[in-house]
Amino acid sequence: MKFLAISDVHGEDNENLITYLKNNDIDLVLITGDITNFGPLDFVDEFISKILGCDCDVMAVPGNCDPEGICNAINESGAFCLHKNIVAYGDAVLFGYGGSNPTPFNTPGEIQDNKIYGEVYELLANYDYVENKEVSKVKILVTHAPPYNTCADLTESGDHVGSQGILKSIHEFEPTINICGHIHEAKALCKIGTVTDVANPGMLKDNGAVLIDIEDGSNYEISIISLNE
Ligand SMILES: [Zn+2]
Repeated sequence: MKFLAISDVHGEDNENLITYLKNNDIDLVLITGDITNFGPLDFVDEFISKILGCDCDVMAVPGNCDPEGICNAINESGAFCLHKNIVAYGDAVLFGYGGSNPTPFNTPGEIQDNKIYGEVYELLANYDYVENKEVSKVKILVTHAPPYNTCADLTESGDHVGSQGILKSIHEFEPTINICGHIHEAKALCKIGTVTDVANPGMLKDNGAVLIDIEDGSNYEISIISLNE
């Protein structure tokens, strides 16, 4: 089972994505936010319809640059808005949380970091409560904001600007994978602690994507790929 994660579309199509999806057998496309560039919401359906046309399922979380109504637009396009949701999908279980911790730019989808912590904690704790440990699943936390002080939140000027709330929740619950976005220049894959792989695909227009190939409920491979190769 293969998942492809992309991020930070900012209203710009990339034909290389569609070509890639037509040539590769991808089950699920994950979009980790900033589908639009502060709207318009019409773009969401146009963009997601093309992906669905490649015979893939699509799940997405909102980014801080997406306007109000983004989750409705995602759901109406035929995709699923994963924000604050838990979904089992094949050998994976997906947890979603969109938006970002506050930025200097006063964007629409900003959330105080202690609130992010509380809500991501609740999401992951809910699953821990109902989880059947006999059935192993690759746990994938899908966020827009990257965890603080990692490879995935480093700006060009050398500052770490990710979410401390997301980092703390990852330390506490150790999901298998965290796919994020938000920091366009931080296209990277690294590890937090001994368990969690963190990956930021970078901006879609730069052809970055993250490929997750799940063999079964516990074995998987993760890599950053280029859609134009
Ligand atoms: Zn963002």
